Amino acid sequence: MSQPYLDIKHLNKHFGAFQALKDISLSIEQGEFICFLGPSGCGKTTLLRAIAGLDLPDSGQIWQGGHDISQLPPQRRDFGIVFQSYALFPNLTVAENIAFGLQNQGINNKALKERVEHWLNLIGLSAQSHQYPSQISGGQQQRVALARALALSPGLLLLDEPLSALDALVRTHLRSEIRALQQRLGITTIMVTHDQEEALTIADRIAVMEHGTIVQIGTPQEIYHHPASRFVASFVGNMNFLDTLVLNAHQVRLDQHPLQLANQAATGSTLQVAIRPEAISLASPEQPGLPARIEQVEFLGSAQRLICIAETVMGPQRLLVQLSNDAGQDWRSGMACSLLWPNNAMQLFYGEAA
Ligand code: ATP
Repeated sequence: MSQPYLDIKHLNKHFGAFQALKDISLSIEQGEFICFLGPSGCGKTTLLRAIAGLDLPDSGQIWQGGHDISQLPPQRRDFGIVFQSYALFPNLTVAENIAFGLQNQGINNKALKERVEHWLNLIGLSAQSHQYPSQISGGQQQRVALARALALSPGLLLLDEPLSALDALVRTHLRSEIRALQQRLGITTIMVTHDQEEALTIADRIAVMEHGTIVQIGTPQEIYHHPASRFVASFVGNMNFLDTLVLNAHQVRLDQHPLQLANQAATGSTLQVAIRPEAISLASPEQPGLPARIEQVEFLGSAQRLICIAETVMGPQRLLVQLSNDAGQDWRSGMACSLLWPNNAMQLFYGEAA
């Protein structure tokens, strides 16, 4: 097997007594797009800054392209970086901002002009080349920041919440532009985000972080369909968690039907059944299923979201259900129904405070 492009080994970082990174190990292949995803304070930015050399770790190693870069200062590392705040030079035009790093590389004027034009063209801002950052939109400024980082042809692109200051529409648009550009250039990319939808749409693999550790790494599909813990299940996408009655080491119960457990559970422990809202379907109340009452129906255009109160052996429990709008039946609040889902849509987790 070829060696990974970026190999992070047993990284630890303290700020005083607080441990921000705990034994982080991660291998990233050449050309991969990886997202560090997690709630505020979980260590995403600290890990990115360690890779850039902006903060040195207390222990552990970082290898890039077969070289140990652990102790190298940022200027001797091979990366381009884009931050949340655009960080452009306000007194330089769009073209001059892109040219800035290239000028320091001693490229002749003709080649420099060609390179800048190439990048202006790639980010669709040729017409704005003589404008100043304050004269273009936030999305355009972020495109310039991206071009400036990429113009130096780095081996690694680091993106620290590059979209979070933008409004929803620009954000979605720029997200697909970044992905298209990354694939076209084949550049290994790491993006920090706390937005799970962003990570699911853009990444080849997502590293989900919690309290300074990587709790799961996998493709968006793996993370979404096979979350490794209750935290991942609740952080990525919507998830219903229902308290179950533990019957014995192999069976739990939500209604009258026992559910078989793949793995042995300790009798008496609190187990929760986790089901995605879109895995649930509704049937009329005389059909077999978990009896429930619809409390609220929200129209979402292509889909509808229902809040249902299910009658379970553990008492009434609230469930979110998402139905496509071509489902036919007109469900309204106050109606009784049966809730159904395939067996393989269920996962079991030990209960925790939500
Ligand atoms: P956010 O999404 O809010 O930026 P994050 O996951 O990127 O969060 P980090 O910025 O990596 O989190 O911070 C992780 C933890 O380390 C936080 O609790 C933060 O307060 C702490 N921390 C980060 N930098 C420093 C610092 N220079 N000095 C002290 N504590 C720090």
